[in-house]
Amino acid sequence: MAELLDILRTRFGFDSFRPHQAEACAALADGHDCLLVMPTGAGKSLCYQLPAVARGGSALVVSPLISLMEDQVGKLSAQGLNAARIHSGRPREESRQACFDWAEGKLDFLFISPERLRVPGFVEWLAKRKPGLVAVDEAHCISQWGHDFRPDYRLLGGRLGELRPTPVIALTATATPLVQRDIIEQLGLHDCKRLIHGFRRTNLGIEVVELKPSQRGDAVLEVLGSGSFSRSEKVPDPLGSDPLGSSAGSGAGAGEGVRHNFAELPAKLSQTPAIVYVPSRKECEALAARIAESVPCMPYHAGLSASERDRAQAAFLAGEVSVIVATIAFGMGIDKHNVRTVIHTALPGSVEGYYQEIGRAGRDGKPSRAILMWSWADKRLHEWFMDRDYPPVRDMRALWGALSSRATDLESLASELDLDVSTIGSRLDKLAAQGGASIDAEGYVTRGGDKWIDGYQKQLEHKRDQLDRMLNFAQGHGCRMLALLNHFGDPDNTRSCGRCDVCAPQQCTLKSFRAPSARELAVLRQIMDALRGRDDLSTGKLFRDNFEQHMKRGEFEDLLGALVQNGLVSTREDMWEKDGRVIQFKRASLTDAGREIEDDLATAVMLPGSVSAPDGKQEPQAPARGRKRKKDARGVASYGKPDPTLVEALKKWRLQQAKREGVQAFRILGNKTLDAIAAARPRTRDELLDVPGIGPAKLEAYGDGILEITRG
Ligand code: ADP
Ligand code: MG
Repeated sequence: MAELLDILRTRFGFDSFRPHQAEACAALADGHDCLLVMPTGAGKSLCYQLPAVARGGSALVVSPLISLMEDQVGKLSAQGLNAARIHSGRPREESRQACFDWAEGKLDFLFISPERLRVPGFVEWLAKRKPGLVAVDEAHCISQWGHDFRPDYRLLGGRLGELRPTPVIALTATATPLVQRDIIEQLGLHDCKRLIHGFRRTNLGIEVVELKPSQRGDAVLEVLGSGSFSRSEKVPDPLGSDPLGSSAGSGAGAGEGVRHNFAELPAKLSQTPAIVYVPSRKECEALAARIAESVPCMPYHAGLSASERDRAQAAFLAGEVSVIVATIAFGMGIDKHNVRTVIHTALPGSVEGYYQEIGRAGRDGKPSRAILMWSWADKRLHEWFMDRDYPPVRDMRALWGALSSRATDLESLASELDLDVSTIGSRLDKLAAQGGASIDAEGYVTRGGDKWIDGYQKQLEHKRDQLDRMLNFAQGHGCRMLALLNHFGDPDNTRSCGRCDVCAPQQCTLKSFRAPSARELAVLRQIMDALRGRDDLSTGKLFRDNFEQHMKRGEFEDLLGALVQNGLVSTREDMWEKDGRVIQFKRASLTDAGREIEDDLATAVMLPGSVSAPDGKQEPQAPARGRKRKKDARGVASYGKPDPTLVEALKKWRLQQAKREGVQAFRILGNKTLDAIAAARPRTRDELLDVPGIGPAKLEAYGDGILEITRG
């Protein structure tokens, strides 16, 4: 260890190890194979680079991205180490030279892309001089259950043998226990040290809110503080319980010289910089345009030109734009440390993807929030996409049947099967991944073997499983961070986070809480009674025996969840096997508090208030618990439609007011707030204060003027 520490200081210029680095370095330096799973930015590179120096000889590093290779080679060279790389972007002559340097033992590090493994004789050439160690970066690419499967990575397993005996380390930021097993198996790691660490994010408060798709745009504006500017006026909580309020004022104001004429817009609020992930390009454009009315914001999606995307990314990095609305294409490799909020306006397809995306918030260690909006409608949408992208086996069989040993092109296949070319292309990729077809460099297709069905079916099941897990996460009743740690198999899973919507409901940005209705109360009582009779009851049975006749499962789960969140019931995961498949389910029991409670359920249980009443009737309004600002129980969009003549009158007043103050109209009040006022028609100062977007300062400044209009 002393020797490793010495190398850390003298060769790499760092004072101390980051958490878990020492353990990984020591294992590898001792010659163990190693699987290292730590989040992006944890410092995984050092965990192969330092042991490589310690062991001596040349290290071989397989890496899937040219930019990553260039970055590492640059850093290592700057530290006086001899590092070379071979990839498609390099001149042939220099790649040859790198091979010769390797053979002569001159290199400390050689980086290669996985495609190189295809080149005949290449691995044999490398094997002439055994490497000191082999590192496989972004190792999840080897698994088809992983985040970003690369077929070329598969070649690694077969090729590593020639480079042995030498320790191999596989590194990745994103691998579930299933993917971890797959990596170990595929790479043939022996007696492997599995180091899965660092997934806990202590500064990130996760909030999950069930919202109808139609409510989500308003909710985003609400979070960003642009539906109202009340948040920027909010008096800081003296107890400092609001994680966002306490870090207000990060970042600079809107930059000058921005093409989008944002110079007039208000300075950034503490919720920004923010990334808003949306599920489609259309929504991306529409939401970005709405946000840009009040906060500097640009869209980012795959339909934009490369230069437009670069411009959006650069403006975001430079702080000229404080919100990016993006499809999943945004964020890979961006290095922005002060992102305060990451919002998902729809359910992501997998927990791995979700974790990666929320991981972009708060890299600077300051309090940050991740807000997920979802509803059951999202599940149906995913299923629709799934049917399109992963059609049933019989459709794939039709495609396979249309292939033959004679090469065909996509167009003829498309017309034969009456499908469009891109659909055919995507299906062929899936067939090819399972060996059912092969596609040559010119895009001609021939039929492969007939063993693809099994693999394809597994793939289908896996996709569905990923979605189910994401749904389970959204519906979860326990600490959100703990659920993520368990998902990745991180052993740091005994403490809850204290920041998420379950641990700290009073700190929620968007989510609000209300008392149960009479009908809900009756169901809550019935659940409690059923559990009083029997501990550890399966929740499925509980539902079927008592509620199936008169309510939906989702509604039942929400109410059960409320009991869990309020500490009256506890649940645990259990599983059983049927026909070789593992089926997961939950069991529920009363907690001590649940056993003791007598008849005051009505005050003991608060429900999330953001969804409309399940029985379609108006819920009685209840004061929100633990919220500083009074707010309607169902949050946004709950007042019905604004009266258009009233909106017009308010706009006219706003314009006069803006002229008087010499500022832009939206600085007086946002359009959303005007709409909300027109819908709520407040008659008193108290009622006006209840309108989202009106805080004490706005009330003081404009209350009389507004009430004059609404009363009239
Ligand atoms: P990962 O591959 O896990 O995403 P990197 O290896 O790229 O992360 O490291 C992220 C950053 O952390 C790099 O800038 C690196 O120089 C820095 N870093 C790594 N180890 C240490 C350390 N022990 N002390 C300080 N900085 C470190
Ligand atoms: Mg890395």
